[in-house]
Amino acid sequence: MSSNSRDEVLDRGGWRLLARWMRPEAAVLAVALILGLVTAAVELISPLVTREVLQRMNSHTPVTGVALLLVGVLVISTAIGYVQMVMLGSLAERIVRSVRRSMLASLLRARIGATRTAGEMASRVTSDTTLIREAATGSVVQFVNGIIALVGSLALMAYLDVILLAFTAAVIIAGMSLALLLMPRLSRLQQQVQEQLGQLGERLDGTVRAMRTVKASQAEDRELAVLYDRVDDAQTLGVRAVRVEAAAAMLTGLAVNVVLIVVLVVGAWRVSTGALDVPSLVAFLLYVFALTSPAGMIMMSVTTMQSGLAAARRIDEVTGLDRESDPDDSRDDHLTDQADVRAVLELEDVTVRYLPDQPPALKSVSMAVPQRGHIALVGPSGAGKTTVLSTLLRFTNPDSGRILLDGIPYERWTIPAVRSQIGYVEQDAPLVPGTVRDNITHAAPSTSDDEVWRSLEAVALDRRVRSLASGLDHTITASTLSGGERQRIAVARALVTRPRVLLLDEATAQLDALTESAIIGAVRELATDGVVVTVAHRLSTIIDADHIFIFEDGSIRATGTHQELLSTDSLYRELIEALQISSATAP
Ligand code: ADP
Repeated sequence: MSSNSRDEVLDRGGWRLLARWMRPEAAVLAVALILGLVTAAVELISPLVTREVLQRMNSHTPVTGVALLLVGVLVISTAIGYVQMVMLGSLAERIVRSVRRSMLASLLRARIGATRTAGEMASRVTSDTTLIREAATGSVVQFVNGIIALVGSLALMAYLDVILLAFTAAVIIAGMSLALLLMPRLSRLQQQVQEQLGQLGERLDGTVRAMRTVKASQAEDRELAVLYDRVDDAQTLGVRAVRVEAAAAMLTGLAVNVVLIVVLVVGAWRVSTGALDVPSLVAFLLYVFALTSPAGMIMMSVTTMQSGLAAARRIDEVTGLDRESDPDDSRDDHLTDQADVRAVLELEDVTVRYLPDQPPALKSVSMAVPQRGHIALVGPSGAGKTTVLSTLLRFTNPDSGRILLDGIPYERWTIPAVRSQIGYVEQDAPLVPGTVRDNITHAAPSTSDDEVWRSLEAVALDRRVRSLASGLDHTITASTLSGGERQRIAVARALVTRPRVLLLDEATAQLDALTESAIIGAVRELATDGVVVTVAHRLSTIIDADHIFIFEDGSIRATGTHQELLSTDSLYRELIEALQISSATAP
């Protein structure tokens, strides 16, 4: 075995993870193990009792007492077996629960951009965790019970006849070593199957999200073909794993059968020479039969353990996701005299890079966001406007330069302190799962219904919500509401917190006139006592702004009012002309 594959069988990393999850349950695990020992011991007795019955029959002694003993042994071992299984099952569920919870916590606390796709993450939380269930509990106990039963049987067989045992052990060791050699391969295959399932989840998630587009493009068959490919690959790999597993199981079974033959032949010879009596040979044979169960148990537990360890590593990638963290000396209670500072937020020479080998998305950008008013960020797509919002929200950290809130650098504030000042409307305005009320009060759960209705009025959605069967308690999904309505829900959600700064990533699509005027009205209202920063795509928003920043290639190209920029900046004139044409031709 190469050191690499030996590492895979022993899987030190995976073991450490499993051990960490099992540690809180060590006491229960120990009790289950002891119960297992008792069952194993009880089962070991029965061949000896059988021998006793046979020997008494030979000497014409009554066997009732011994038969009753056998029944008693059976009842006790069955009862203990039941208790042990329930204990282990509940323990496994507890471990799965705590692993799932820590995965979910990591997912929601992860840095934006650290996670993989939703489908892949969902598959890890739901499917991989079930694989560690068995590995963490059943298979550990099975393994230990199996070893004990094996050692116990071998010891009692030695007591019956050492010579016979020597032959038996040789065959068993040969069979099991062959089977164990197959394990690294099995582990690799099982990991590949899980990876394939993760990819299926990822692809399916994307396809379901784009369902309308898929149907409109009549691409169902092509999408199906891609999904089927993933399913087929999982099957191919699964079948390969089954073959290896079957080979391992058969080798073990074969070893046992060969042992039976050897025991019969060698045993017959020992009986003929008078070294062994027939009842002892029968008892010995019963132990050989009994050996199949621990041998199978050990093989099975190693197999489950392998897939559990692979799953543990995949789970660890999730629990180990890069978390958002506050700098050490950050606080959320800096006393600032807000009247003293000119700008609520300020960027100073901020450079942002998403990936080390990519050109920066923002290059030395400096801008001040005043306490009040409406600021528009405009420019071609890819210019860095959305990155400004992400950086202000601390989704992305600048490579260099600094950002100030009330004149104090971001590093000295906690992340919650910064975000509590800022409202945010994402470009595609996703709904959060739940009712209208859940959606509006998302950032401020204690908001009263009156305030919820006021914010709905502000975006002209109150009548629409009243028309829903259960009003504020109506569960809304992306298909219940139009794009414009979703946008207005998102604005209303941001409005209820009365943020000092509202960041609005305007939808690029044309919105209906009602939505447009409702949003502008709400923005205007908020801009009188706070500031609104809009990534603007619509002419009306741009003209409405008090101050405009034009972005190009990650830098601020020009800044000023609409009138000033019209006369000074050629790119701005081009942008406005294009918008005028598109709004003139809009329906
Ligand atoms: P805008 O909002 O002006 O259209 P963005 O701020 O979204 O521009 O993007 C600025 C640049 O950063 C673009 O070149 C874009 O491709 C890149 N970019 C944006 N988000 C990411 C990301 N998550 N990973 C890598 N590159 C990104």
